[in-house]
Amino acid sequence: MAKYDNSFTDELRQRLSLVDVISRRVPLTKKGQNYWGCCPFHNEKTPSFSVNEDKGFYHCFGCGEHGDIISFVMKSENIDFLEALKELADMAGIKMPEYKQKTQQQIEAEENYIKITDNAAKIYQDLLYTDSGKHALEYIKNRGFNDEMIKKYRIGYAPKNNIISSKFNNIKHDKLVATGLVRIGEYGPYDFFRDKLMFPIFNAHGQIVAFSGRSLDGSEPKYINTTDTELFHKRQTIFGFNFARDAIHRNNRSIIVEGQIDAIQMQCHGFPETVAPLGTALTEDHIAILCKSNRNIVFCFDGDNAGQKAAIRACTLVLPFLRETSDVRFAFVTGGKDPDEILKNSGESAMKKIIDNATPLIDFLWESVNKNYLVNTPGGRTQAEKYLKDCTSKITDKIFQNEINEEYNKRKFNQWHKWKKQEYKPDIELPDIDIMTVNLIKSIVQTYPEIAEKYADFLMSLNISFDEDVKKTELSIKDAEKFIISFKLQRYITKLENDKKQLLFGALNGKEYDKELIKDIDSKLSECSSKLELLLDINK
Ligand SMILES: [Zn+2]
Repeated sequence: MAKYDNSFTDELRQRLSLVDVISRRVPLTKKGQNYWGCCPFHNEKTPSFSVNEDKGFYHCFGCGEHGDIISFVMKSENIDFLEALKELADMAGIKMPEYKQKTQQQIEAEENYIKITDNAAKIYQDLLYTDSGKHALEYIKNRGFNDEMIKKYRIGYAPKNNIISSKFNNIKHDKLVATGLVRIGEYGPYDFFRDKLMFPIFNAHGQIVAFSGRSLDGSEPKYINTTDTELFHKRQTIFGFNFARDAIHRNNRSIIVEGQIDAIQMQCHGFPETVAPLGTALTEDHIAILCKSNRNIVFCFDGDNAGQKAAIRACTLVLPFLRETSDVRFAFVTGGKDPDEILKNSGESAMKKIIDNATPLIDFLWESVNKNYLVNTPGGRTQAEKYLKDCTSKITDKIFQNEINEEYNKRKFNQWHKWKKQEYKPDIELPDIDIMTVNLIKSIVQTYPEIAEKYADFLMSLNISFDEDVKKTELSIKDAEKFIISFKLQRYITKLENDKKQLLFGALNGKEYDKELIKDIDSKLSECSSKLELLLDINK
């Protein structure tokens, strides 16, 4: 019997969480490794229906019903295989491909592929412990790898000569080429990896689908990977995932580091839930794979500029996956070091401190906005605000999105407009401002922070509390500014008139009569009044 093409069903399984899908029908609670609920396939009052997210299977200890994400949808909704795929594709937000059956030829090709890559790995592993691999072994031991680690991760050495193309000379060229290990040149087949320290790349089932080779002579690029093949898609593969999978579930989080060696060292020294993207580019697919287990991720980057940029990129990628229960954090390894070096020089506890002190995503985004924009200027704040809004709009859960926007509004108000909280004691006594005017000013300040900023000194002198929230004003920004200017002029006129009155009172009581001062006040008054009239004229 012909098998079905697994790639699409694998993608569905990768993108969707079995627990999420089943939870739509049956409430589940986590107990130990598994989730439990009342079986939807037989009548029961105490839960005997268990769901294992890691393995992707459910099992009922009451009626014996069991299966995977696809059979669950088929059975619980009484629909056929293709209909179930379609429904799951909708849930995952991906398009259903033209459905193809896998041919016997394809199945054989895949089996051949895995056989070749696995045998190649064995050859590389053996060569690491020969004379030709001496420098590679020395290098990896210097990086703190012991024999046990080398064996577990099947690290090897690809020699300078064409070992694969010559050892596999009984296998057809196109089969070798399909694995990416061999290429065909002018003079026949040659090995793609030569004089490289070899790290096998495993798929989620623990089969070797590709390799990553590290240069040993200092030449760039440091790493080359198998180019994409039928069974290896770089954008959808995370290094170390097959080893980290159980731990990601058990520890209820994943850690993403930048390099493969870092990932292995982390896995072996107290952080088994660590993975790394292949090469530097993190993709949406990588996040989707990790978020299937849980949505708790610690990104661990270098503290340099490149690390900051990578973190911002990761941030935008992870935003659509955020839920209110997600815990996403950013940790930075400073001092030009890798997690690998931290572990080697300062030990697990130092690394734990870095991970424990990771900044939550909400704070990281806020901090980076404050770092990257001139938030002490109205223009910079506008840019920052637009950027923040752009980011939060990526959060698909609308209620959560609103909640985050509210949080940022609070921070904008409290941190960007600090002046509004300052105590100010006016040095002159002016009549109280009526409540209508007070409210209008408050709403202008909250609606148009740029106006608030521009007339901050004056607004402060009014001794109004701007702390509580009021409704936004319906005035346009122009009219709002005109109102503030005219109000300012009126206040100034009142102040000048008061000054003049006091001077004249003083004169009546026999005090010195300062003619020059009165003259000055008069000219200021008329200048002020004409400005006010001009302003009111424009309003008409
Ligand atoms: Zn049952």
